Order: sequence, then C-alpha cells, then structure tokens
Amino acid sequence: MNHDTKAPAMPKRVMGLYDKSFWSHVQDRKLSLQCCGACNTFQYPPGPVCSQCLSEQLDWKPLSGLATILSWVVFRRTYLEAYQAPYNVITVRLDEGPLMVSNLQGPVPEGEWIGKRVSVVYAEMAEGQLLPRFELIQP
Ligand SMILES: [Zn+2]
Repeated sequence: MNHDTKAPAMPKRVMGLYDKSFWSHVQDRKLSLQCCGACNTFQYPPGPVCSQCLSEQLDWKPLSGLATILSWVVFRRTYLEAYQAPYNVITVRLDEGPLMVSNLQGPVPEGEWIGKRVSVVYAEMAEGQLLPRFELIQP
C-alpha cells in the first residue's frame, strides 16, 4: 500500500481502441473530439467511422469547452475511495453536439441544475492525470 500520495488513486482508465487521442488532448488541457469530414458531425465516444453517415473521414478537432447541463445526480454513498460522498455526476450536452458524463466542480446551483451553462476545467488527479470536469459559468 502506498502512503506517500495525499489524494486517493483514481480507478485505472479503461482505454478503448479509439480513446488514446482524446486523453492525449486532455493531458494538454484541450478538449477535442472526432469530427466527420463528410457531414461535419462531432461524435463521442470516438469510433472507426462517423456514427451519422459511416464516413471514415474523421479528424480530431478542438471544442469550445462550453456545454449545458442536461441531467445531474448527487451520490450520498461512497463507492470508490477517490470519490468521497457526497459527490455529483452530470451529463452535459457539449455545444458541438455530443453528450459527456462528468462532474460539476466548484459551486453548484442553488436551484435547478438543468439548463445551466458550464465550461470545461481540468482536474489534476493523484498520479498527474488530468480529468475533464465542468464549472458553472457565472452570469
Ligand atoms: Zn458523417
């Protein structure tokens, strides 16, 4: 057991066949997704072809990092050491279209969460890995 690290280790990433570019961009504090050269659709998760038109012309393009909260939940029970309760999980619709599941970092809305605008931030985990999370855009 390692007692040197202050923050608990995150669960190891499950790296799919097409995930490496996404996480490489995140480590550079950039949010990028595959975008189809034929129909201009962004997609997430990444894959071998466009999910809309099956084109193989996929390029990684940068995103604005802006999104809108579609759904949220606060867990009041700890399931993983790295996620001590209470913690939230949100689903956002990125301005470019795809959905992403993440956490809302910092202040949370006092009332309704759904529809709130958020922007991406990069949380540093115990082993130096960056994780894209979101913060409220203050009006
Ligand atoms: Zn397409």
